[in-house]
Amino acid sequence: MKVLVTGGLGFIGSHTVVELQNEGFEVIIIDNLSNSSEEVLVGIENISGKKPVFEKMDLREKNAVISFFEKHNDINGVIHFAASKAVGESVENPLLYYENNINTLVYVLQELQKKDDASFIFSSSCTVYGQAEKMPITEDAPVQMAMSPYGNTKQIGEEIITEVAKVSNIKSILLRYFNPIGAHPTAEIGELPIGVPQNLVPFITQTGMGLRQQLAVYGDDYPTPDGTAVRDYIHVVDLAKAHVVALKRLLENKNIDKVETFNLGTGTGSSVLEVIHAFEKVSNQKLNYKIVGRREGDITSAYANTDKANEVLGWKAQSTLEESLASAWKWEQKIRA
Ligand code: NAD
Repeated sequence: MKVLVTGGLGFIGSHTVVELQNEGFEVIIIDNLSNSSEEVLVGIENISGKKPVFEKMDLREKNAVISFFEKHNDINGVIHFAASKAVGESVENPLLYYENNINTLVYVLQELQKKDDASFIFSSSCTVYGQAEKMPITEDAPVQMAMSPYGNTKQIGEEIITEVAKVSNIKSILLRYFNPIGAHPTAEIGELPIGVPQNLVPFITQTGMGLRQQLAVYGDDYPTPDGTAVRDYIHVVDLAKAHVVALKRLLENKNIDKVETFNLGTGTGSSVLEVIHAFEKVSNQKLNYKIVGRREGDITSAYANTDKANEVLGWKAQSTLEESLASAWKWEQKIRA
């Protein structure tokens, strides 16, 4: 089985390529290296013993996408990770986000629509729920107005796929990730944030390494047990494995609906302070942090109800928060060595 992984050199994509290769899939990666490096291929090969085929390509180039699918007309499934993901940048440059996250999706779907049968996995996000009313969040919780152009591209992406699936042979699974963290336990691949990290865990590990002086904790007056914001942190390897399960479901025609949606989280909410203290435990050091005011756009709490993924996909996150943080720490230490 041949699978195209767009954005396959990125954080979640690279871990998914490893799991796909471990399961015997033949993988082709498309990536324009806008947020990754070709060296990731070496890490993938070191873990799985196989170097995937790599095509350096920008999916915004429609003609390149057309030529690619003409050349590789035997692709059975596509996992579409390629996108820009910095929320703040999307507020400053919305059109970059609509072009990169929407046009690329449209071009890939246009080629898949020509096929008799196509399986398509889409990287969506729990941001579609905004601040949900009920915790844990189930898949039927209402999608709320997006708080950023980035978030909007995920909502629009889900809508586009749903509409196209109705009139084509495309089957799709929309995966709504909660907060992916960690790295491969071998520390061969991991997250490589460019510039100041936007997410909590890379900021923590960089502070632990002394690359950042201090971690700012945005707000301790939220209505949560310790006042800091609560999220559902899922190990990237667990997340990667869910993609393989979801893809197989489509390839084996086990899906019940043309488009299915699943939350991917652990089901447990952790506060910022809990994450900091868990990190202090696994790294055996005190972290320099300071409570500051709330950050605009942040919600209070989001964690997943994972019953649907557990029951329908037969998938469950395995790693604990400590294990995820330990892997992130090991990776940070390796790349700074
Ligand atoms: P990432 O930036 O590490 O990976 C994305 C990859 O896509 C990068 O390697 C980048 O170079 C590539 N890319 C971007 N635009 C491209 C284009 N036009 N053509 C070809 N390649 C292109 O991001 P990630 O964290 O691995 O996220 C993967 C997907 O999951 C994204 O769609 C993201 O929006 C979504 N997601 C991520 C998170 C998260 O917290 N990391 C949460 C929810 C959803």
